[in-house]
Amino acid sequence: MASDAMVQKMTDMMARFIGYTGIILPDDVTAKLKELRAKEDNPLAKVIYDTMFRNQALAEEMRRPSCQDTGAIQFWVRCGTGFPLINDLAGLLRQAVLRATSDTPLRHNAVETFEEYNTGTNTGKDLPTIWWEIVPNRDDCEIYTYMAGGGCTLPGAAMVLMPGEGYEGVTKFVLDRMTSYGLNACPPLLVGVGVATSVETAALLSKKALLWPIGSRNPNERAAKMEKLLEDGINAIGIGPQGMGGRYSVLGVHIENAARHPSAIGVAVNVGCWSHRRGHIIFDRELNCTITTHSGCVL
Ligand code: SF4
Repeated sequence: MASDAMVQKMTDMMARFIGYTGIILPDDVTAKLKELRAKEDNPLAKVIYDTMFRNQALAEEMRRPSCQDTGAIQFWVRCGTGFPLINDLAGLLRQAVLRATSDTPLRHNAVETFEEYNTGTNTGKDLPTIWWEIVPNRDDCEIYTYMAGGGCTLPGAAMVLMPGEGYEGVTKFVLDRMTSYGLNACPPLLVGVGVATSVETAALLSKKALLWPIGSRNPNERAAKMEKLLEDGINAIGIGPQGMGGRYSVLGVHIENAARHPSAIGVAVNVGCWSHRRGHIIFDRELNCTITTHSGCVL
């Protein structure tokens, strides 16, 4: 296949995939919402979950986005150095966003900073966001897509703690964000926590943590224990679905960590909402694709 044809094919597939993920929630998010609804004993909370399921059924039937805020589009790309379209990826992902914006349709969420006008295309200076991991000796390409809505982005924060503040300081930082801004993010929340040296390392890890399957556990036993303790702690606040009260407030808590400077603890939190629009697609070098997040998706 000629390279231009391959670029066109991958652009089409990504445009359709982005549009699909705006309408249909990932399998694990839907399953978790059903689990929380079943475990909830607050009648109002049950009604809110039922409204979410009705919303999802209508979105699928009418082919309309799951939430009106279809977010700023972000990609985490893990690309093998041997993937044939590695040089074209940035351009084709931008084209795919343009196409998905008009075809799905998606809300226009790209405002040029300092100029303060909406481009109307969901693209702008360095938007969509693309984070890269270039992987040697591989010829496939994994793409995580994420629709970063305004409300669920709002609780995001990062700071560097004094080392003496320890993991108690990390816990306090996360819980402070949940009690002050958690409501803005349409709970139940998926909470991503990054622990590293500086604000940008922690912040990127906290976003990455949102891309893993719900209920993933950090391979480090202590970090995994902290995920569970934070989950229990945030649930105990009683925020409930849409902040209307309930026994459960989180879809999950995921921690991503990196080794740190001994004199600093960088910590960051990023939040996903009940309409957690993430997707994961893997292309081989022939552009055969595997989708891990949405079992019903055929491109
Ligand atoms: S927080 Fe999520 S569900 Fe709520 S308005 Fe924003 S994108 Fe939509």
